[in-house]
Order: sequence, then structure tokens, then C-alpha cells
Amino acid sequence: MGVHDVAVVGAGPVGLTAALALARRGASVVVLEESERLSTEWRASTFHPPTIEIARDLGVVGTMLSSGIVARKYQVRDRRDGLIAEFDFGLLAGETDYPFRLQLEQYKYTQIIKDAIEERHDRVDIRLGTGVVGVSQDDGEAALTTASGERVAARWVLGADGARSTVRKALGTPFEGLTYDHRYLVLSIDYPVETLLPGICDVNYIADPVEHLLVLRVPDLWRVVISVPPHVTSEEAVSDPYVAERLRGLFGDHPELPLRERKIYSVHQRVADAFRQGRVLLLGDAAHVNSPMGGMGLNGGIHDAFDLSIQLGAVLNGEAGPDVLDAWAHRRRKAAIEAVRELTHRTTTAMAEQDEVERRRYQRQMSEIAAAPPRARDWMMDAAMISNVRTHDLPPRAG
Ligand SMILES: Cc1cc2nc3c(=O)[nH]c(=O)nc-3n(C[C@H](O)[C@H](O)[C@H](O)COP(=O)(O)OP(=O)(O)OC[C@H]3O[C@@H](n4cnc5c(N)ncnc54)[C@H](O)[C@@H]3O)c2cc1C
Repeated sequence: MGVHDVAVVGAGPVGLTAALALARRGASVVVLEESERLSTEWRASTFHPPTIEIARDLGVVGTMLSSGIVARKYQVRDRRDGLIAEFDFGLLAGETDYPFRLQLEQYKYTQIIKDAIEERHDRVDIRLGTGVVGVSQDDGEAALTTASGERVAARWVLGADGARSTVRKALGTPFEGLTYDHRYLVLSIDYPVETLLPGICDVNYIADPVEHLLVLRVPDLWRVVISVPPHVTSEEAVSDPYVAERLRGLFGDHPELPLRERKIYSVHQRVADAFRQGRVLLLGDAAHVNSPMGGMGLNGGIHDAFDLSIQLGAVLNGEAGPDVLDAWAHRRRKAAIEAVRELTHRTTTAMAEQDEVERRRYQRQMSEIAAAPPRARDWMMDAAMISNVRTHDLPPRAG
């Protein structure tokens, strides 16, 4: 094929969302993915209301809802003191048609989007096993070089190739920020964990000065995301004795809990200096990464992709000039810094707080907010990313 309208680097959840959304606007798209198959790694599992609205616009909401779990509440707990606050997403009923968090594994979302592309859009070519090693551009077009030396030309290139983005590095775009001292150990447990921790709900944030954690229900399993202090090596953190000790600490003496997965992740807060350079745009983890506390990284990436598909669709159809892409880049970078980074960092810090006075202050604040419905509603507008998308002008979602 000659010059595509758009070449997307990376068939992760963000790259495929962009491909589907662009195809719905008539663009021809090639997606280049270095792996031979889509990732089945568990990472994100939470979809917030604005993201579910995007899924409705893209025609995949029914499949997502029937594949996931609707979490109507979430809890803030303290490891020593128990339940601190419970928030009911029902308070958001007047603000969105989806007043809940949808718990659905990231790899299932990615597959749903790929299926939708393959069923409905023959102008999207998803090429697995095609890694990109270089990017170039001039006034007329951009070109990607693949690992096998092939040149793939397109009018626009989207770098959706994750946190280690080759595209971002090829542009020389700085990715400044911080790496937290702690890492997260993710344990997937095939057991009804709610019987071991009575009173928990589907999404639970549990503060602790030594080992803060998240306990989440996903359709097939329970997931525990537990902080690992700096002095523990990553190898040790996934070892049988370390994992067994963590499980004992959480669930008491219990016969072997069936573990389906254990994986360790570093935690960063980083935002690319610019999301656009000429014909090349960065989105998703290639543009911003943050702590998973709050479940906002992938959601923010899907918002990038949806907004960009509208702007780029207008440029491709001759309805707008490329300046709308600068506005997009500016808007999405601000959303990443002022909303996602700010909130996820605040939550991470509060969960890990070591100062006793601050811990108590946070606990009081949480229980007071939860007890006052107008304050709880405002709190959840932030936690559910609704204030984020309103402040940062996410385009309207159809449906
Ligand atoms: C433990 C954990 C829990 C999380 N929980 C949540 C959550 O609940 N909610 C949330 O919103 N976010 C969460 N996140 C963040 C979320 O997982 C990421 O934001 C998301 O994966 C970003 O998607 P992406 O498509 O931008 O990048 P990726 O998922 O990294 O996909 C990038 C794709 O690009 C491909 N690729 C890379 N380099 C090249 C190349 N050179 N050429 C071609 N292809 C290439 C890769 O193979 C991959 O398929 C969590 C993350 C972690 C680690």
C-alpha cells in the first residue's frame, strides 16, 4: 500500500483505541506492533465513567459491560484501623450514565477493540511482529523504519508504543519526572478473597506506612497490588517465601491460596515535554506514566486517543488545520500534569504516609468527606475523572 493516512506504533490498548476511533472517521490506518501477539499481561483493570462513555461512542460498550464487573462502591481502609471511608458512585448518577467503575482486565479491553476493528473496518491493517526502530518526517509525510528495514509511510504517525517509546526517543523528547522508591508486587489470586476480608468491596485502597496496597476484584480473580520497600530486591519480592509472608500478613494462616500470577512493577510519574512534533504525536504511556493508585493511566491514554481521533479526523477531512493538533497536545499534556499526576501522586503519598499525625489527619478527612454527601460527590467527581475531562475539554461522547 502507498501512503496511509495514519500509522500507529503499538497495538496496546491506546494504539488500538486510536486506530478504531480514526477508522470510524474514514481514515486508513496501519498499526505496527513488535510482538507476535497482543499482550495478555495484567495491568489496568479499572475503567472510569468518561472512558465508558467513549466506549459507547466507539460501539463497544455492551461487550465491555458484559465482560466486566460493575463496582458501585470503593473503600479507603487502614491496614491497622480497618475501614475509614466508603464511597458510593451512585452519587454521580446525575453526572454520567455510568455511575460506577467497570472492573475489566486491560488485555480483554484490547481484544474487544481489536475484534471491533476486524469486524467493521477493512481500512485498518494490524501488523503484528513488526517492530519500529526509526522515525523520520518532512513537510509532506512521516516514515517509519521497521526492524526488518521496511519503510512505512503515512501522513501522520502516532507513537502509542508505551513507556519505553522508541518513537519518543527517536524524536529526542525528554520524559522528565520521578521514580518512586517503592515498587508494586501484583498478585492474582484465584480464591473468593471477600470471605477472608469480611466487609471489603470490589475496590479497596488500604493505607499502611510500611506496605500499602490495593485489593481489587476483576472478573476472573482478585488482585492484590502491594508496595515493596526499596531494600527488597525485585527477585526476592517474587520469591515463594516473600509472597507467602505477604499473603499470611493479609489473610492470616490459610491453606495455600491459588496464585495465578505474580509480577513486579516500578512506579514512575513522568510526562513528555511535548506531545506533538510535526507529523508525529505521542499518546498513552509513551506520553505520560503515573502511579497506578487511582487507576488513571490507561484511562487518560484512551482519552488522548479519542480526542486525537476527532482532531486528526478533521485535519484529514480538510475541515481543520494542523493547529487543532497543537491545541490537542497542549490540552492533553495539561490533563496529564494537572489532573492525573496530581491525583495519583496525592493518593500514593496518602496511602504510604509514615507520619502518624498526617495519617490520622488523612483518616479524619476521608471519613468526614464520605459522611457528607455533597463533599463525597465532589470527591468522586475527581476520583471518577469526570472533573478532569470537563476541565480539560474532552470532546462530547455520542450516545
Ligand atoms: C500494576 C499496574 C496497574 C495499573 N492499573 C491501572 C488501572 O487500573 N487503570 C488505568 O487507567 N491504568 C492502569 N495502569 C496503567 C496502564 O496499564 C497503562 O497506562 C497502559 O498499559 C498504557 O497503554 P498503552 O497502549 O499506552 O501502552 P502499552 O500497554 O505499554 O502498549 C504499548 C504497545 O506498544 C508495543 N511496542 C513497544 N515498542 C514498540 C516498537 N518499537 N514498535 C512496535 N510496537 C512497539 C508494545 O509491545 C505494546 O503492545 C496500571 C499499570 C500497572 C503497571
